[in-house]
Amino acid sequence: MIETTGEAIWKITGMSKGPHMVIFGGVHGNELTGIEVVKKIREAIVSGDIVIDRGTLHLILGNPRAIERNTRGSADHVDLNRCFKKDVLDQQDELYERQRAKEIAQILATADISIDLHAMNKPSVPFLCCAVTEAHEKIYQWLDCDRVLADPNYILGGESVTTDEYIDLCGGVGICYETGMAKDLNRIDEVMTDVLNILKDQQMILSDALPTKKNTDARSIYELVHAINLTEAGFQYADGRGAGSFEEFRMGDVIGYVGEDPLIAEFDGVIVFPKIPELQKLGKPLVYLAKRIK
Ligand SMILES: [Zn+2]
Repeated sequence: MIETTGEAIWKITGMSKGPHMVIFGGVHGNELTGIEVVKKIREAIVSGDIVIDRGTLHLILGNPRAIERNTRGSADHVDLNRCFKKDVLDQQDELYERQRAKEIAQILATADISIDLHAMNKPSVPFLCCAVTEAHEKIYQWLDCDRVLADPNYILGGESVTTDEYIDLCGGVGICYETGMAKDLNRIDEVMTDVLNILKDQQMILSDALPTKKNTDARSIYELVHAINLTEAGFQYADGRGAGSFEEFRMGDVIGYVGEDPLIAEFDGVIVFPKIPELQKLGKPLVYLAKRIK
């Protein structure tokens, strides 16, 4: 049975009790793969091609206004995936993203698993953003990418701000999957197959056999170390730097210039989430530095 329980929020209840899973696309409105995957899974359930046998599945298009605009948020410099703070359920706020986060957080608060599909505005290999625990690995083992970016110290938002961080706080298991480039539609079928394998593994969908797990032994683990904020002095990358996530630097390298002052790397690492100029904002992070820990 499929019910619409909110704007672009669909709840599918299986025949018997089981896990409660949430699948998100379009938490950022210009990241197309996740939006298409959610729509395709929904269509397959409506047509009867996919039957949820056990548990509860929520399919959510995170930010319908941003999807309509084909932009990250419903207005410039607003970001739904920075609104999932610990006290989100108590917040009274007019901002659309905060209202939406509150509506979605009510679902996440009682869910067991969430898969939040994202994509990047600059080139990047696919990667996972989530905690690295056995429970997380049991879910993300089905997703085809060879690296995980963890943020145990909340460098990204200073506290819990993302869907995966919020469900983790509530006792569930949250995974954010950066599937590739925002406008790239080539991975839709592959990502959908991988996500459905998670549902099969959870026995939410009946299936005879599961394929071999993906990259289980080959995953590199990175940890966020540092955010570089945009200041009045401005920031410019050193020559040839800042093109995309997982670009490597060595200790002592000049990553860029804050005004005239060189920003020198204090460890061997990679840059992640380099913001495109139109998303950069004074006082906010414009890129992050991460370190490989495994
Ligand atoms: Zn995103």
